[in-house]
Amino acid sequence: MKSIRVKLLLSYLVVLVVGVLVMVAAVQFAAPTAYTRYMMSEDGMGMGMSGHGPGLGLSNFRAGMFLALGYAILAAFLAAIAVSLFFSRRIVAPLQEMTNASQRIAEGRYDERVAISGQDELASLGESFNQMAEKLETTESMRRRLLGDVSHELRTPLTAIKGYMEALMDGVLPASPETFDQVRREADRLSRLVDDLQELSRVEAGAFPLDLHPVSLSMLVQTTAKRLSPAYESKNVHLTLNLPADLPQVLADEDRLIQVLTNLLGNALMYTPSSGEVTVLAERAGNVVQVLVRDTGLGIPAENLPHIFDRFYRVDKSRSRQAGGGSGIGLTIARALVEAHGGKLSADSGGSGLGSTFTFTVKIA
Ligand code: ADP
Repeated sequence: MKSIRVKLLLSYLVVLVVGVLVMVAAVQFAAPTAYTRYMMSEDGMGMGMSGHGPGLGLSNFRAGMFLALGYAILAAFLAAIAVSLFFSRRIVAPLQEMTNASQRIAEGRYDERVAISGQDELASLGESFNQMAEKLETTESMRRRLLGDVSHELRTPLTAIKGYMEALMDGVLPASPETFDQVRREADRLSRLVDDLQELSRVEAGAFPLDLHPVSLSMLVQTTAKRLSPAYESKNVHLTLNLPADLPQVLADEDRLIQVLTNLLGNALMYTPSSGEVTVLAERAGNVVQVLVRDTGLGIPAENLPHIFDRFYRVDKSRSRQAGGGSGIGLTIARALVEAHGGKLSADSGGSGLGSTFTFTVKIA
């Protein structure tokens, strides 16, 4: 049975049919006797000839009829009780279960789910309830993980700074410019992390204004490439831009798109060893422009690919740190920015050592 409405209608019909059937049966049973009694009586024989109104026979007949009606009402009443008990139990029980489950969720037990049976409105309510519970559970576990990750990320540079200071105080490390430079670098990491976190929370809350207008994507790519070219040159990684002359303008916030490009080109440089190649390719694809940032670097193993856009996710923490990498928030921010523009950012790689390709789309203005 599909809907509660149908079930209710059917239950009313059951009560009605039971009442009518009992009435018909009772009339069938009672009417002949009542009628015979009536005919046998003075009223029936004389057809009121005696002239003194309806007598004993007619009231016998009436009593018979009322008895039949009484049976019918009683049967309908009993049927109504039985049917409503049956249906209300089926409606009330799942509601009760959902009430209990929601109370347990409110107490922090996010793994709570309700059992679903049938296909009616209550079943779909149950499904929505379970979806909601699942969403709450993932949000909660993300919050916990975020707190854990943030404290871990903060602890690492702090421990390093403390270590340097203690070594300095004990005279284990010389008070040389190099030592102070190490300390400063750790402090830089800390402040970068704090900046990233602030940016992340702004981006994830959608609390950043996008100043969208038609811009030349080629120009943005060239600007970003120019900014990064000293770093590329000093690491001896070759950067090639492949931008068609007839590339249409896109609808974007210049600064935000430069931020995305800087992240992708920065990562490509970071994870590509010296004398490698990085290529930026843009092309029109329907009503969007697709930008590919391809490198011949370390690549990303297939099992890590689905996670690299997660917060704090780094394929190899030590590798990322050695390469001067950040905290694993860059791609999370980049993806959020691209999505805020109505585009998509994805990654692809042939595997470890086989280079990576990051692709994002922006709408044509
Ligand atoms: P990070 O600040 O550590 O670079 P990102 O969010 O920018 O953080 O990147 C997440 C992880 O994805 C990196 O730690 C790195 O392991 C991997 N990654 C990103 N870009 C590349 C790339 N071009 N080549 C190989 N690995 C990459």
